Amino acid sequence: MTPDDDSARSARDLAAKYEGLIKAAVDGVVLIDERGLVEVFNPAAERIFGYATGDVIGRNITMLMPQGDASRHDAHLDTYHQTGRRQIIGIGRELVGRRRNGELFPMDLAVGEVASSEGRKYVGFVRDLTQRKRMEDTIRAREDELREVVDNVPIGIFTAELPGIIQAGNPALRRLLRYDPGELAGMSFIRLLSGDDYRQLTAMVTDLTNGAGTERVAELRMRRKDEVVLDVALHIGLVARAGASPLIVGMVIDRTEKVRSEEVARQAREHLAHVGRLTTLGEMASAIAHEINQPLTAIANHAQACRRLLSTDQMDIATLQEACTQIAEQALRAGQVVRRIRAFVTKRESNKEYADLNEIVRSVLELAAGDAREAGVRVELNLQPSPPSVLVDPVQLQQVCLNLIRNAIDAMRDTAADARVIEIASREQGGMHLLSFDDRGPGVAPAARDRLFHPFFTTKSDGMGMGLSISQSIVAAHGGTLKYETNAHGGARFIIALPVVVG
Ligand code: ADP
Repeated sequence: MTPDDDSARSARDLAAKYEGLIKAAVDGVVLIDERGLVEVFNPAAERIFGYATGDVIGRNITMLMPQGDASRHDAHLDTYHQTGRRQIIGIGRELVGRRRNGELFPMDLAVGEVASSEGRKYVGFVRDLTQRKRMEDTIRAREDELREVVDNVPIGIFTAELPGIIQAGNPALRRLLRYDPGELAGMSFIRLLSGDDYRQLTAMVTDLTNGAGTERVAELRMRRKDEVVLDVALHIGLVARAGASPLIVGMVIDRTEKVRSEEVARQAREHLAHVGRLTTLGEMASAIAHEINQPLTAIANHAQACRRLLSTDQMDIATLQEACTQIAEQALRAGQVVRRIRAFVTKRESNKEYADLNEIVRSVLELAAGDAREAGVRVELNLQPSPPSVLVDPVQLQQVCLNLIRNAIDAMRDTAADARVIEIASREQGGMHLLSFDDRGPGVAPAARDRLFHPFFTTKSDGMGMGLSISQSIVAAHGGTLKYETNAHGGARFIIALPVVVG
């Protein structure tokens, strides 16, 4: 083999390599001569433009352009040849291409100049941008949709840079806080909070930035631009961003009306509870009078005995002392009943405190003892020895217990005299403190169970039907439940469940 053969072969090898490269290229490759006639058209270009190579070779490149560009193309080439001024060569830009079926499409075109023995040639690398544009359009449409939603939801939404500088707030937030467009951006969110509620926000943000959870919710007070204070629920979360600190995304929900109506409901409940207590006591008046009368009678008897002893000259000091002790004890007992009644009827704000449920049950029994005795009802206590404390309003809870005991007494009017028993039991179960009242009456008829807790539901000729309804709303206001079930004796069992306070 001669060196000439060698170099001819390596030239052939090289040409084959280039041809392979061009064929394999993902981008369309088009080579044209000085006049714009196509010399090379690779498979990718075939796919992009929809022409077979044979249809394009030797024809003017303008066939791949829309009308306007095509008519200017020859002029561009001439200008470049004469002045060297470049429109596209070596620069690349986004243009519109035309496929065989006439469809116009966005494309990226990079053009390079190739010097060859046959004069200047230009090579173009074409990338079809249809897909990308479509994706960009989809993303843009999604963004528009999202913006539309954010702009129209009736919930305040904002984004803020750490530590809390508002970046943008939606119209609902502006309307809620009475700000004009553009005023919220750049403000510190803390300035919108009322009192020292900013501490809570700071703690929430710190928690989130320390990685404790992904979302925080708090009930806070915000100040409108006109200084009116609103009750709101604030939800905030952090959104990670590439190359920047996380973005705070927040939602503000107005609770002012809800808080106000809750307050109205609370006052109504208290009023109703008060009326309920007065009614209950009114109904129990004779039994309670009896309860006070007993010690008063005892006091009168002992006092008379003392007077007799004193008048007879035979003063037995020990007997006198005993009589005086009895007088003092009975007076205390009467005083206690009166105090309990007064505590029970006084109208006052709901007042929750840590209390021992057993204590509450015992104090109620003192009020109901007379009623029970009159009706021949025995009370059996099965209380948990040392119950965990519950956070309750003792008077309201007494009212619930008293109501359940009185209903049980009422229910056993037709029960055999020796079977009239109320069993009151307490136990703890699943984080709840359960207090149950069982009786041996007829229970509640299945048809009546649905309406049992409805206001004004009563089966008694003199009943108001408010007792269980008030009781249930009191227990619910304590975060608990009041439920009915039939017990093993066929009688009624009412169960109060209250959350055990931890800590
Ligand atoms: P009232 O006692 O004024 O009727 P309540 O709301 O306390 O009002 O009770 C409503 C009704 O529920 C009673 O009329 C009665 O029919 C039924 N009820 C309540 N407790 C019992 C019970 N322990 N056993 C059977 N029925 C009961």
